[in-house]
Amino acid sequence: MQGFLKKLIGDKQDKKLSSFYKRVKQINELEPIIEKLTDEELRAKTVYFKEQLENGKTVFDIQNEAFAVVREAAKRVVGMRHFDVQLIGGMVLTEGSIAEMPTGEGKTLVASLPSYLRALEGKGVHVITVNDYLASRDRELIGGIHEFLGLTVGLNVPMMEPHEKQAAYQADITYGVGNEFGFDHLRDHMVYDPNQRVQRPYHYAIIDEVDSVLVDEAKTPLIIAGKTGVSNELSYLCARVIKSLVQDEDFIHDIETNTVNYTEEGIAKIEEGFGIDNLYDLEHQTLYHYVIQALRARMMFTRDVDYIVKEGKVLLVDSFTGRTMEGRSLSNGLHQAIEAKEGLEVTEENKTQASITIQNYFRLYPTLSGMTGTAKTEEKEFQQIYGMDVIQIPTNRPIARKDMPDRVYDTIDHKYTAVAKKAKELHDKGQPILIGTTSIRQSEKVAEYLENAGLKAEVLNAKTVEQEVQLISLAGQKGRITVATNMAGRGTDIMLGDGVAELGGLYVIGTERHESRRIDNQLKGRSGRQGDPGCTEFFISVEDDLIRRYAAQEREKIVKKLKTDSDGRVLNDHIYEFFNRTQRICEGANFSIREYNIKLDDVLNLQRGTIYDLRTRILESRDLYELVKSSLESYVKSEIDLVCNEEEITEKWNLPLLVQHLLEVIPHADLAVITDMSEKDRIAETVNGQLAEYLVQLDQYQDNPQFIGSMQRYLLSVLDHHWLNHLDNMERLKEGIGLRSYGQEDPMRQYSREGLELFTDMFYTLERDVSRQTAAIIQALTGQ
Ligand code: ADP
Ligand code: MG
Repeated sequence: MQGFLKKLIGDKQDKKLSSFYKRVKQINELEPIIEKLTDEELRAKTVYFKEQLENGKTVFDIQNEAFAVVREAAKRVVGMRHFDVQLIGGMVLTEGSIAEMPTGEGKTLVASLPSYLRALEGKGVHVITVNDYLASRDRELIGGIHEFLGLTVGLNVPMMEPHEKQAAYQADITYGVGNEFGFDHLRDHMVYDPNQRVQRPYHYAIIDEVDSVLVDEAKTPLIIAGKTGVSNELSYLCARVIKSLVQDEDFIHDIETNTVNYTEEGIAKIEEGFGIDNLYDLEHQTLYHYVIQALRARMMFTRDVDYIVKEGKVLLVDSFTGRTMEGRSLSNGLHQAIEAKEGLEVTEENKTQASITIQNYFRLYPTLSGMTGTAKTEEKEFQQIYGMDVIQIPTNRPIARKDMPDRVYDTIDHKYTAVAKKAKELHDKGQPILIGTTSIRQSEKVAEYLENAGLKAEVLNAKTVEQEVQLISLAGQKGRITVATNMAGRGTDIMLGDGVAELGGLYVIGTERHESRRIDNQLKGRSGRQGDPGCTEFFISVEDDLIRRYAAQEREKIVKKLKTDSDGRVLNDHIYEFFNRTQRICEGANFSIREYNIKLDDVLNLQRGTIYDLRTRILESRDLYELVKSSLESYVKSEIDLVCNEEEITEKWNLPLLVQHLLEVIPHADLAVITDMSEKDRIAETVNGQLAEYLVQLDQYQDNPQFIGSMQRYLLSVLDHHWLNHLDNMERLKEGIGLRSYGQEDPMRQYSREGLELFTDMFYTLERDVSRQTAAIIQALTGQ
């Protein structure tokens, strides 16, 4: 960034902070008055604030006093008084920005302020945490403060009954994990009874560990899948056929976008393998889908990194926590492709019934805010996608942690040997060590080296959340060595054991640069909370995955010029620059992938919005009759446009077919005359005349409960049916565009153009079905 620009942004942040400090002063001045209130008087403030808002005041008008009230309540209920910087964090959240506050600064308590304030508006506040454990922990702690002040607090967890969920959502403040809120959104648009819906309209959300939720987890969309009943032999065949294919010759794996594609040669080999002429033929669409999934399974999913095999099953691994994701599976045959690749029994396939990206779910909230220790590096993304600023909040106490420069080694073996040596040195003094890794496989490797050095470590692999929290919280005890993937136990406080501060606090060792500086910082932040002493040091090597994947060519040149000491430690100065540059490239590539996925989802997002609005209208039985009528009119018009194609000669119009189709939706109409006509206008005029007569007849049923009732049930099921098919079609379209990017058109534009065509087609079919069903119901009702 240019120096002056940096300064400008710095100034903006300073200006903001100084206005926040003014408010802090005002809040502190209120303390002596608020302190004197009885519990009842304090609680009465909630009613008073609500009245103020009803009388036209804004949340910013009452913010100072409301914060003073929450602070006082916190003192009485949990025995903690918000630090001044925590009040500032609360202000940042109120206005819908991201508060960057390092680990241990007390973000849980910070959230108590804006969640109270924005809940006073009566429209519900959602507090999002990264796991259920933290949701209930925070709900207990902070919920107590809010309940003391007369608000209701709910907890939204998976598997609750609809009435329990409804209660949770009716509460003023609702805690829970982001995914579950997103799934509820999807499920609310799948119900057949409006009383089964659980959510209210969105108002305001606070996302804790916001970078984890909106950036890291946002790679995988939320998918609700149903069983299809097909378990397919094809998965095995495909896995076998593609096993013999050669990378860069038969297929290409684009690391930047993490996509795979076959080359012409590859396609030819597959065609040969299956004894077919043309894989792109419509009749081989299914096979094409399976061979693509087989290749994805082979190239994009690595055993013991992305998934593990346990008792004959493929269990997906959350790459950030290293935890297996119970009950989660990939949809559209990908899971089966991985099973086939591993030679396991292939399970039943899942078919997507509803999906949304995390990004598009959270964009539904009018105001979104977040907090985390690490957001600044991704500020551009937060601004671009969510319009959220990142404000860095000063720490309560100065940071005493020391971050050492990286140690670079020539080989991975030398790197781990050095890690073990360092660990031994520290352990001999009794200083606790936390070693961060990027995958389960790496964790195991580190543990091996430690063992060879005679050290015993606690390895946090594939543990439950509770075990993880337990083990991580002990990582600061004397003599402990803990090995964990980077995000394990995120949100858990690591307190130092007795005498550990004197030894220098927690020593964090990184064993690889992560895919972004942000995650490196996350690991570093594990040490030095609330002014504690601590130290961090990264041990890396030029053989690391990051370098191999993102700077393979440059690496070869650099390796030739490496100067090392006897332990394999690299002495060349410019090596740091090389790592930094490579990490930036990786950050950029990942951002592009997310940006691309959002663009793809944006096409679907518009359509989803349209369909969901329509579905809600049907579900709530709002103007159903109008909907039926306009579907009929629109269908009749499309049918005429379709047959009376003005780009063809009149003789080619298939008018008998038009009559046949129209009679299905306007029964008993007198349309025989149009088969002799040759002008579209006259045809339309005749048809519309007959349609108008029919509509007069139909009007008599507009309040008929039998007609409306059966129409509603039909509309819901036919809408869902076509929408599901459409989702499938869009999925296939997405698969196809990667391949066609060799052509002229920009794949993104092509996707949105063809996506719109598919959507229009779907609507046509929908209107046709509704029109036919209307005729059928009317006939049944009149007994004709
Ligand atoms: P973060 O989420 O920012 O990492 P936590 O919310 O987990 O931090 O809080 C870290 C620790 O600090 C907790 O033990 C919490 O009880 C304590 N804490 C937070 N705020 C205060 C405060 N104002 N006074 C005393 N202790 C606090
Ligand atoms: Mg926290």
